[in-house]
Amino acid sequence: MNQDEYSHLLDYLDNHNTQLVAVSKTRTIDQLMRLYSFGQQTFGENRVQELLQKVNQLPDHVQWHMIGHLQSNKVKQIAPFISVIHSVDSFKLLKEIDKQAKINNRTIDCLLQFKIALEDTKHGLNVYTAEDILSDSAFTKLENCRIIGVMGMATFTSNKLTVRKEFKKLKSIFNQLKSDFFEHKPEFKEISMGMSGDYKLAIEEGSTMVRIGSLLF
Ligand SMILES: *Cc1c(COP(=O)(O)O)cnc(C)c1O
Repeated sequence: MNQDEYSHLLDYLDNHNTQLVAVSKTRTIDQLMRLYSFGQQTFGENRVQELLQKVNQLPDHVQWHMIGHLQSNKVKQIAPFISVIHSVDSFKLLKEIDKQAKINNRTIDCLLQFKIALEDTKHGLNVYTAEDILSDSAFTKLENCRIIGVMGMATFTSNKLTVRKEFKKLKSIFNQLKSDFFEHKPEFKEISMGMSGDYKLAIEEGSTMVRIGSLLF
């Protein structure tokens, strides 16, 4: 994508109040810096090792989002700097994020990841396990992680009907959790859904954060 195409995409997203997370996995520092020079300051990575290698090579104020499956034992490596973790799929992981955030004297924003796709390979909670976590007394004691919304990945298919149905499902999970647990928490407002192939559909269904890689690079 060149500067004009990037600006055009950003205008479209701005008009829909949607934030762009530039998914930079497998891309080189030069490719990231080119996008940064267009004005992009939020990048998403899905592997801890690759993220750690990139962090020091980009300007300090860049915001990094963890979008891939995260093992609890790796949280401490990213806790000092990570802005948002999109992939919270267990209570164990959430507790570890809270613990490591506290050690670093900060709060880490988190999204609960839901399994909305048909494929077995995609990680994520279902609505019942999420409600169990959110009703647990141990959850209310967590002070250094802040749940700001939900995330999901649609099935990898060209069938738009399937994808739309899955985005609708995530939106309805968001609405349910909002009314049951976060009614008075204005920070619970994000729905992270939509990638290069389906971001327009995701926006139609209420996405507030799109995670776009291949279209940008
Ligand atoms: C790779 C990836 C994306 C971006 O996918 P593209 O099709 O390249 O836009 C979004 N979300 C997650 C979790 C990813 O791993």
